[in-house]
Order: sequence, then structure tokens, then C-alpha cells
Amino acid sequence: MTGESQKPGRLGQYRLFSLSGFEVKLDLSWLLLALLITWSLGAGVFPEEYPDLPRRVYAWMGIACAIGVFFSIVFHEFSHSMVARQFGLPIKGITLFIFGGVAEMEEEPPNPRSEFLMAAAGPLASFLLAFLFTEMESLAVAKGWPVSFVGVFDKLALINFVVAIFNLVPAFPLDGGRMLRAALWKWKNDMRVATHISSRIGSAFGLALMLLGGLSFFQGNFIGGMWWFLIGLFLRGAATASYQQLLLKEVLREKPVKDFMRRNPVTVAPSVTVQDWIDDYVYQHHFKMFPVVDGSGLLGCVSTNRIKQIPRAEWRDKTVGEVMDRVSDANSVPASTETTKLLSTMIRPNTASRFMVVEDGQLVGMISLKDLQELIALKLEIESPGK
Ligand SMILES: [Zn+2]
Repeated sequence: MTGESQKPGRLGQYRLFSLSGFEVKLDLSWLLLALLITWSLGAGVFPEEYPDLPRRVYAWMGIACAIGVFFSIVFHEFSHSMVARQFGLPIKGITLFIFGGVAEMEEEPPNPRSEFLMAAAGPLASFLLAFLFTEMESLAVAKGWPVSFVGVFDKLALINFVVAIFNLVPAFPLDGGRMLRAALWKWKNDMRVATHISSRIGSAFGLALMLLGGLSFFQGNFIGGMWWFLIGLFLRGAATASYQQLLLKEVLREKPVKDFMRRNPVTVAPSVTVQDWIDDYVYQHHFKMFPVVDGSGLLGCVSTNRIKQIPRAEWRDKTVGEVMDRVSDANSVPASTETTKLLSTMIRPNTASRFMVVEDGQLVGMISLKDLQELIALKLEIESPGK
């Protein structure tokens, strides 16, 4: 799979190693996948298919498969990344997470051909691995290696085969969906229409997986059912998000924050008391944050979050100047910043959704997530009638 700034789990990511310039990162959620593979094979499948081995051997076979899957995923994503590099597309790195792996692209492919080849490289890599593991299995049988080796090769061949086939489903953003998008893009000569169609299929496929997973769950296949349900949910979300991201980029293009900010913002003087600020500013204008400005210029900003930490009894005595935050990257942004960059900062958890726009140290406007969202919705409605 290849994706654009997709955010897998939030458990934390660790750099593992660098593979010819691509950083391989592990999202801790991947461990759940590893556990599931180890457990379902080691405790379920292997004891049934290869009876009479010591229990310890089954556990090792399960772990070996999880490690094999790890390297299979890295190889799959590495293949995407190498082709991307051939076309000059920057890849941030390869991240393994709960549903497999993703090669993180920094921008969309420049043309249908590059997208098609880049997408096709993944399933091709998985087919190659399936073939290699099948050969290893035959070799193990021929040479009379322990049956545990045969079992591990057999399952790794099967898993890679399933990964290749699953990724070929034409459901964006799966590899097959990207290949479909590239074909539609070439045919219709319109990337947005192509993305729209393939992400609709992706979303429908996600829904189908969720339904099948749910059905399977209620028929008693709890883990498998739940797993397919979650994969469906993830795909559905990713399909919708990719299309929205594309629309957003189209609307915002490379425009700076300055073009979208609100000019002439309401400001507050540092001498105003907290109580007056709340009564006359917050409750009047319904903003959570105000720039603090005096005769000499911008001093900082005061926000409702900060006030929550001050006892009510002190609101009449303290002034805004005493409780404000100084101007910093956390509350202000240069007017020339690209709007898409600010937007990706704003949607991160624990970041402010309202920023002061600053030029040459002076306040020139305000920009908020809510304003941006409304403006984007409006622009989409007016400028893209055929969505
Ligand atoms: Zn892939």
C-alpha cells in the first residue's frame, strides 16, 4: 500500500533501520498484528496441520512466521518506494502498522504512468515472495529438513499470495485502486474524476468488508470477523480521506495563509482585567483566543484555556497583560506560510486551532480551523460543480 500522510495508530513510532535511504519505522500497533499471526498459527493452524510436535516448536513456528511477515511487508513497501524514487517522487519512509505497511508519499504522482508502475510494484513483489517461499518449501521437502521449516515456508508463501491478491482489489487506496485510478486518469485525462471514482469503489469495498466481518463475527468467528471489520473501517476512512485531501489541495493550491485570514481582528489591550475581557470580548465575539496589542504593537495572546487555571476570585484583579502568552510558534504563523501546511498542523491533536498571522513582527490577521473549513466548503461548492 502507498499512502499520503496517513496516520496509523497513535501508540508511538520507532525508527528501526534505514534501507537504501528509506527509513523503516514501526508503529507499535504492528505488534498486535505480529501477536495475532504468532498466536493464530502457533496455537491454531500449525498444531492441526502438523500434529505430534512439541508445543515449543509450534510457538517458534508462529514467531518465525511473524518475523517472515515483517520482512515481507518491508519488501513490498520497499518495491513501491524504489519505483517512486525512479520517478523522482519523494518517499518519507516506510511505516509498519496494524494493517500492514505504508510507503509514505510526500506528494501525488506526477502522471498516470508513474502511479500505475509504482502501485503495481507492490503486488508484484508479494507474488515474487510467494513464489520464493514456495520454492523454499519444495527444497525443504526434497532435502528432508524438519517439518517445522516446511510449515513456516508454506504459510509465508500463502500469506504473500493473499497479500498480493488483496492489494490488487481495485479499491483505492489499495494498490489495485491506485492502478485503476491511473488507468482512469489516463483515459479521462482528469485526476480528480479518476480519484473520485476509485475512492468511491474503495469506500464501497470497505463497507462490504465491514458487513462480511460483522456477519462472520456473529457466526462465531470472533477474531477473524473483527479483523475484517476493522480493515474495512480503515479502508473506508482512507478512501474518503484521500479524495478530500485531493480536493483540499486543489482548492488551496499553494496559496499562503495571508489569502485566507480574517483581516482587522478584534484585539485586547494588556491593561484590561480578566473579568472585563471575559464579559466584553469572549462573551461578545465568541472567540477562544484574542491577540494582545498595545500602542507599540503585538505583545502576545490571551486564551480561555489559560484562564481556566486562574481562580475566579482573581479575575477582577489580574490583567490580560499578566496572564497572556508571548508570541510563539504555538500561537502565531508567518503570513507567507502555505495554507495546506498550517492546516496539517491544525488538525494534529493538542495544537491550537486559532493562530495569529504575523508579518514583520506585526499582527495582520487571524486564521482559524473553523474559518478555513467553512471557506473550503464554500469554495468547493462554488468552484467544483461537477463533484
Ligand atoms: Zn502496496
